[in-house]
Order: sequence, then structure tokens, then C-alpha cells
Amino acid sequence: MKIDSSVELKRVHGKEIMDYLRKEKRVTKKVMAEELNLSFATVSNICNEMREKGYIQEEAKEDTKVVGRTPKTISIQYENLLSLCLDLTRFGWIRVCVLDYGNQMVFDEKFAYEKDCDVEAIVNLCREIYEEQVLDTFQEWQIIGVGVAVPGIFEKKTHHIVSSEIEMFNNQPMKEMLSEALKKTVYVDNESNLCVLSEYMQKRHGQEQENLIYIFADEGLGIGVVANGNLICGSRGYAPEICHMPIGNPQMKCHLCGNYGCVESDLRIQGYVEKYRLYAGKELKSYGEFLNLIKEKDPEAGKVLTENGEIFGRLLSILNNMFNPDCILIGGGTTETLKICLQTSIEEMKTRMLVAEEDLPQIYLDEESSTTMVKGASEMVFSKWMPI
Ligand SMILES: [Zn+2]
Repeated sequence: MKIDSSVELKRVHGKEIMDYLRKEKRVTKKVMAEELNLSFATVSNICNEMREKGYIQEEAKEDTKVVGRTPKTISIQYENLLSLCLDLTRFGWIRVCVLDYGNQMVFDEKFAYEKDCDVEAIVNLCREIYEEQVLDTFQEWQIIGVGVAVPGIFEKKTHHIVSSEIEMFNNQPMKEMLSEALKKTVYVDNESNLCVLSEYMQKRHGQEQENLIYIFADEGLGIGVVANGNLICGSRGYAPEICHMPIGNPQMKCHLCGNYGCVESDLRIQGYVEKYRLYAGKELKSYGEFLNLIKEKDPEAGKVLTENGEIFGRLLSILNNMFNPDCILIGGGTTETLKICLQTSIEEMKTRMLVAEEDLPQIYLDEESSTTMVKGASEMVFSKWMPI
């Protein structure tokens, strides 16, 4: 029992040391012991173990030469601490990235798969890419874990994927399947949670922001929420869920629940195509075609855009009133369209403020949401990793 707890304590101290080094970059053992309130012997002992593993390095401090003794600084060996990240959110594609402990992308490739394949084929493809491409560049021991972004919800109790826009992923234990195929610890979460986690950790939009919302409007519509510094996920991982919020066009039928007026029906990629058919009576082949009509100032496409801007504004107003965020980020494949109608959305949002003189949250469009998501997946791996 005593041995167990001292081993556990050492693991906790090892993690504290790595977190500190990640923030401070280069520091002596003495300073680290003082700052972390640990004994010099504990810091020295743990650092020696982590240096042997290749996680940190010790170098002579160049600027301070003391007679008879040269103080040494400790720093992280970023190239030996890598996460493998798989973005499975785009149907037909897998984005495979490797990021180092400093969040730098050191490998980034996209691979296509046949849309009519099954989930085993996807898992096999991930294994092949990992073994043949990733391990051709990096060594197996350097990859400390795998982070996977999925469309849909990662059910915390069963570890199954539910409510996914990519049908073959539904009710599949992706975490276990990928762990077995890659022989690594695998963490899975949905795209919106990873995006909000990434923004929260990177603090790109202000240091003090403890309340963030990331709206991911793509093949589906999802949100990730950090409230008072905590990721909201609910008892089984289903929260927060917005796609069936009945604030959409009452003529649009939800492809998931069969009801009319669910907001996802309007704001997902396919929603623009379907609404255009509703108003113009014409079939569009793709969302790309809708974007072209917007550029050509097609009146029916303009009507779709204005209506979706208003619906998006209602959604923003509900989220603003529920969570009182510092900042709302918008990403996913429809960002380009939402950018055009954002002013309409903000005007709609302003009409439903809790207090008339309340400041609006900052609103940012994230046009690199896939990269944001991958960085969130990497952060998920590093935050759960124990160096000892
Ligand atoms: Zn619905």
C-alpha cells in the first residue's frame, strides 16, 4: 500500500515537472524544486529518470559560468514526445497528423477511403498508415498516445460512437478497435469538444477566458462548451447537444429524428442545398454549387442565406443567455457562408439580450477548424499522459 502510494506520488510529481517545463522551457533543478515546492533530491531523481527515457535533456547554462561548477538547465526534448492524431470527421477522408509536445505539426497527410467501406476497413487503413508512413519517419516509443476526432458523440459509459453523421461509425467501439490495431493508448472525442479544448488550451483569444463556446457547423451541427474552466459533457458525454433545438424552418425535416424545425436541418452543409430546393424548386448537386450562386447574387440563394443568418442569430442568442461566454468561435465547412451573414446573426442576437447594455461576447470565425481540432486531439493525449 505504502509502495503504491509513493509510486503514485512520483507519477504526480513527474507530471508536475513536465507541465512546468512546458511552460517555462528551460530551468535549473534548483529553481524547479523551489517553484514546485519539492525537495531537490525528488526533482533530481525524477529528472534523471525522464532524461534516460529521452523526454528531457540537461545542458550547461551558457550565460553563467561559476568557477569549478557549471549550472545545468533542464528542457524538454520535444522531438521525442509525439502524439498521433486522426481526424475522421470528413466522410471519405482521414487526416493523419503527428504533433510534438510543443503543439508543432511534424507530419500532416490526408488519405482517401471508399465511402461504401465498413468501419473495420477504416481501422485497418489507420493501422497501415501508422505502420507504413508514420513509423517510417518516427520511432514507435516516441509516439506516446493517439487522439481521434470523430463526428458524433463518444459515449462515456459504453465507449461507443452515437449520433454520428457518418453512419458506419454509429454504435462502434472505435476507441477499443483503434487501440488494438495501433497497440497504443487511444483517446476519442467529438469534433466540437476538441475544438473548444484546443482554443481553451492555446488561449489564442485572451488569457483570462474561462468561458468559451465553439460552434461546429459542418456535416452536422455541434457545440463544445468550456464553462468556468470545465468542459461540459454531462453524465454520459451527450451534453451539450443543440441539433434538435426547434428554432429552425418548420418546413425542414430533421434527417435524424424525423421532426420538423430542428436547427441542424438548416445549418448543416446539406441544409443550404435542401433549403435552396425548397425556395427555388431546383436541385443543387452540392454545397459548392450553392456557394457559386451566392457569388452570382442569385436571389433565392440570398433568401436562404438571410434566413440561415437569422436562425444562426437565434442560436447565438440562446447560447449567449445560457452560458454567458467570453468568446464564441465558429468553425466547420459552412464558416465561409456564416461569415457573409454574420452581421444579420449578431443583429438577431442583440434583440434577445438578457440586459440591454450587456456586452456581446467576442465572436471569431475559425477558418482552420480541422487544424484546431487536431491540436485539441493532441492536447487530449498530452494532458492524460503520465511521464513515469
Ligand atoms: Zn431533430
